[in-house]
Amino acid sequence: VTWTSLDDEATLISGLVATGRCEVSVLGTSADGIPLRLLRLGDPPPSLGQHIPLLIIAEQHGNEPAGREAALLFADYLTTTTDPAELAFLADRGVAIMPTTNPDGFEAGTRDNASGADVNRHHMSLSHAENRAIATALGQSRPLLAIDLHEAFPQSTRNITFAPGRLVAIDTQVRAISDAVVTAMKARATAESWTNGDYGDVDGEGNERIFGSNAGLRLASSVLVETSRNDDTPTGQTDRTDWQYAMCEEALAYTIANLASMSDVRAEVEVAHIAAGGIGAPIDIRSTVIDPAPVAYQLDADQVTAVALHLDLFNVAEVGGLVSMAQTSRLAAAFLLDARGLSNVAVGQPLFASQSSGGLAQVAHAVIRTRVTWLACDVVTGRKIAELPDISAMVERVLAAYTSTDVVVPLPLAGPGALPPALVDTATAPVTTMVVLVVNDVPSWAGWVRDRVGGTGADLHLPCVTLEGYLRARRVRDHAWVGQDLGSVIGAGLAGDAGDLPGVGAGIGLVVDAPPTGILRDRTYLASDRQTVYDALRELAGVGLEWTIDLDWADSRQQVVNKILRMRTRIGVAAVVPRAKFATESGAEVTYRLSEDNSDGRHANYVVAYAPGEGEDQPASTPAIDQDALDAGAPVVELHWQPSSSITEVGTLDAHAVRRLAEVRHGSRLWKLSARWDRYPRLNVDWAVGDDIGWDVVGHRHPAGVTGVGRAVGWVLDTATGLVSPRLLDPLSDPGVVS
Ligand SMILES: [Zn+2]
Repeated sequence: VTWTSLDDEATLISGLVATGRCEVSVLGTSADGIPLRLLRLGDPPPSLGQHIPLLIIAEQHGNEPAGREAALLFADYLTTTTDPAELAFLADRGVAIMPTTNPDGFEAGTRDNASGADVNRHHMSLSHAENRAIATALGQSRPLLAIDLHEAFPQSTRNITFAPGRLVAIDTQVRAISDAVVTAMKARATAESWTNGDYGDVDGEGNERIFGSNAGLRLASSVLVETSRNDDTPTGQTDRTDWQYAMCEEALAYTIANLASMSDVRAEVEVAHIAAGGIGAPIDIRSTVIDPAPVAYQLDADQVTAVALHLDLFNVAEVGGLVSMAQTSRLAAAFLLDARGLSNVAVGQPLFASQSSGGLAQVAHAVIRTRVTWLACDVVTGRKIAELPDISAMVERVLAAYTSTDVVVPLPLAGPGALPPALVDTATAPVTTMVVLVVNDVPSWAGWVRDRVGGTGADLHLPCVTLEGYLRARRVRDHAWVGQDLGSVIGAGLAGDAGDLPGVGAGIGLVVDAPPTGILRDRTYLASDRQTVYDALRELAGVGLEWTIDLDWADSRQQVVNKILRMRTRIGVAAVVPRAKFATESGAEVTYRLSEDNSDGRHANYVVAYAPGEGEDQPASTPAIDQDALDAGAPVVELHWQPSSSITEVGTLDAHAVRRLAEVRHGSRLWKLSARWDRYPRLNVDWAVGDDIGWDVVGHRHPAGVTGVGRAVGWVLDTATGLVSPRLLDPLSDPGVVS
């Protein structure tokens, strides 16, 4: 064997990608500028962020090349296998492989990376790009089993040796799976007549800075595989590669055979950690046993900023500086934040059960750091065509309205992110495709591609409209509804007009979700009016039927995006105490702006409601007057308006005037909030379109602070700055029209 060069590795990976069974995520760049690649193998490949049961990493030590060689060969095998069980596994789940985690060391023939650091001693500090890349792979794919390929020299007298991920804190069930995999691997080695045994003290205390134990903190089982590097002749190199390759086969075979029970263990252990964290159950953090353990660690704002990356990559949830231990990542939180930890990255203030009678929020599942992928999908079927390279765009969603944006797709000709030109053509075709933004595994925004502009430059511009814009391309048919439900009959009926046209062609596959509202209405529509479905639904939004087009996965493989036209009297969660609060005193870099608008129609202190008609025949209300404001020195500002063409009763007009005065006496106060999208409160995790949200902000305008609650009728997300802004409902606007 002549070890595959880095250039040949890049070529080989391009070939794997061309099979359609492999996608590449570049998780960082080494000090020498070499991409740190994670291969996602499946048919089709799983997304980054999807659970991938098996992760294989190799070459943390640059002078231990046999595992890398085997990992590359194994990736190649997975793109060609025809074994039914493997094909089923690849179709349903997939495998993640990082063949070259320390490319600089490989190139230089050194154990350490280019900074002279041992990559396999920094999985807590994350002080090197290689560690951050591996931590990203662990954090995003959350493997059930992680295999770490190494070579031993010169002490090894056996062909191949193994060690399970060991750390006393690791759950016994997680450790048992590691032991079972070691048993299977030893059996294979024995069957092949390869000498084998344990590597080191397999019952030792372990070290969280080393990959296997670190994986255990993340509830993953793991096995360290060490082949003897003693024979470096070509024959020896071939043998060593064969031994490593066989263990990749064993890891896959074990995972396929035991996937259900491994998944069950993961689920059980997660639930157990949440429960144990809530009662302060002890944790052995190696230096000591913390008993009782805190039920939370409090971090100040500077600490939150300092350890944000660690919390993200270890999937540790943090809310307003508080890290609850009632979470699946409880072990990682203790090792990272306890004062007595040997590898801590911050010293959090421990809070014990007795101090937190106020009740800590339970964090039901480990928080996955905000991650973003862009997909090109068929607009009709929703099926994924390709994963697009990193896109910069400012995208927006608003209830009951469409928005437009120019999505800019970088088009590198080579290297990571390069797509074959023919695929670019199909994936970005105007009219037939949509671009989908996936945030935290949730398809969050879709743009129907209308135009495509590109040429000499390195970018492709795709002006898009959100899917609501498609409703402008369809027309309302004849309907006569008398006393029918506003949602399940009228709204759903109009939505049907944007569906497939029998005998002609397809719509965009909208799934209509419109339960009965209990509101009965009469509505007549004539096809000859040529009204767009969009305009008809906008009109319904103004009379109490809210709607939006939500996105969701149609399948567990995240290959097909469903488009759901949802209709409700209220979209989103109404709450006096909202779950999501934007606070300037948090790590989310919240900014705010309050616009007080007293322009025409938005402010008055003298209000008259009047009916249609002229002169004596025009009834009008008694003026409703804000006498306090006038006494305090405000000049008279009049507002005269007609609430409805059908109201002529003076008593009713009086009531309208009084209500309108209450709305306009203080003018319009519009809050604009902006926050980092990767911090609490996170879009689609802590809040979504239509929800009430809260704020607790301090600024030069409000040095003593001010709180409030408002409704997010939409949001704007700028992927270039990483900032998200809820669009708050202007209380004075027509509910069908948000500004
Ligand atoms: Zn090693």
